[in-house]
Amino acid sequence: MRNQQATNLLFELSRPGRRAHRLDDLDIDSPDVEHLIPDEHRADQPPPLPELAEGDVVRHFVGLSTLNMSVDTHFYPLGSCTMKYNPKRNERLASLPGILDVHPMQSEGTTQGLLALLYDLQNMLAEISGLPGVSLQPAAGAHGELTALLVAAAYFRDSGEDRKIVLTADSAHGTNPASAQMAGFKTKAVKSNADGLVDMDDLRAKLDDQTAVFMLTNPNTLGLFDSQIKEITDLVHQAGALIYLDGANMNAILGITRPGDFGADLMHFNPHKTFSGPHGGGGPGAGPICVRDFLAPYLPSPIVDKDDQGTYRLRRPDSSIGRVRSFFGNVGVLVRAYLYIRTYGGEGLRRVSEDALLGANYLLSKVKHIMDVPHGERCMHEFVASATKLKKQHGLSAMDLAKRILDYGFHAPTVYFPLVVDEAVMIEPTETESKETLDAFAEALFRITEEAGDLVHQAPHTTRISRPDDVTAARRPVLRWQPKSETD
Ligand SMILES: *Cc1c(COP(=O)(O)O)cnc(C)c1O
Repeated sequence: MRNQQATNLLFELSRPGRRAHRLDDLDIDSPDVEHLIPDEHRADQPPPLPELAEGDVVRHFVGLSTLNMSVDTHFYPLGSCTMKYNPKRNERLASLPGILDVHPMQSEGTTQGLLALLYDLQNMLAEISGLPGVSLQPAAGAHGELTALLVAAAYFRDSGEDRKIVLTADSAHGTNPASAQMAGFKTKAVKSNADGLVDMDDLRAKLDDQTAVFMLTNPNTLGLFDSQIKEITDLVHQAGALIYLDGANMNAILGITRPGDFGADLMHFNPHKTFSGPHGGGGPGAGPICVRDFLAPYLPSPIVDKDDQGTYRLRRPDSSIGRVRSFFGNVGVLVRAYLYIRTYGGEGLRRVSEDALLGANYLLSKVKHIMDVPHGERCMHEFVASATKLKKQHGLSAMDLAKRILDYGFHAPTVYFPLVVDEAVMIEPTETESKETLDAFAEALFRITEEAGDLVHQAPHTTRISRPDDVTAARRPVLRWQPKSETD
């Protein structure tokens, strides 16, 4: 049923004189403050703000919040994004006054508890990654990439080496080349081979004494662990360059292998993916980075340290690149990551990844019978199907699938990424979904392939807005904004 209060604008709900609260008239002399406001900012009339009762406002915003799909309301298999369940216990603990009410300007002496938590988190991430230097400051994965590349740039500058090229995989997230550009590097893409792994000949051809960093995602965005990883890291190190690991896919390998052990020199974590921080709607996330010991002196300032008396202190690394974020980063997300890691422990984290792999391979085994999965013998925590054949046979594109699946009560998978697969449909179930949910999702996909025509091309039919901006070839957007009462 339509929630009129959610879908009408506050301005439309407004009635003159309606109020949430009425204050008593002022019974003290009010100081004359009007002269403090410059003339050009004064108006004869107050601005036409909506006038509403408190209940109207609450219903409006709560209603709006229910128009969206979320992990709490729907299966959300958004490949690469690891949309897993966010334990409510972590929300409650992160909201304890001792954590929530700490002010970033408080002194070290009055924030020892929170600093201890952040210090422990640094150590836990160092252990999980196999890389000892940690900065919690970056505010998102992409920001972690940029920060780590600035660390690499500072390292090469100090070593007197003029290395200006960053290599990225052609299956990489768009943030990889973007971060490299922002850090002042030029980028070159390394091709994938027919198996969806790094094309070693292309890597050899592009690697030289100009190469600063090779940015690699492993397991990669096709959901495949690159079995050539040892050869890749040896090759890159022989050329004097560094290996950056895009850690967005850490949910596949927690406690099973460590980037530091397979040759990475720098990496970021996405706690809002791997460690269940709530995300979506633009954040906030976090993007802590881990680096080898010889890169640690360049980390952003400050990091949390512990002195001989056991007091936690903020320290500026010797050759720090400086600050990349105010204060200590998005501490609320970091607290949730800490709680998540502490709750599971080492064995538990390994189980998380093993279950994520099991769920993804189970779903893969079903989806294979519905759509092509080009590299789909086995997968890690996610896999990439292709709608190319469905498009040829039934006129059904990846976009059609993504839109129609909403009507079945599922969030869409990631589509058209990675770019190396035509009509890509990238599915990541995560370890927090049941077999029944995965079965129902596969069943829905299958049913869509049996549907046809406008039912699919004009989907979704159950949402407030259908296809606002993706004007695909020969189709106009279908807008059902009007009339307001009859549809859905
Ligand atoms: C999500 C993601 C990023 C970027 O992380 P943000 O936290 O969204 O900035 C980078 N690489 C890959 C492979 C990702 O999935």
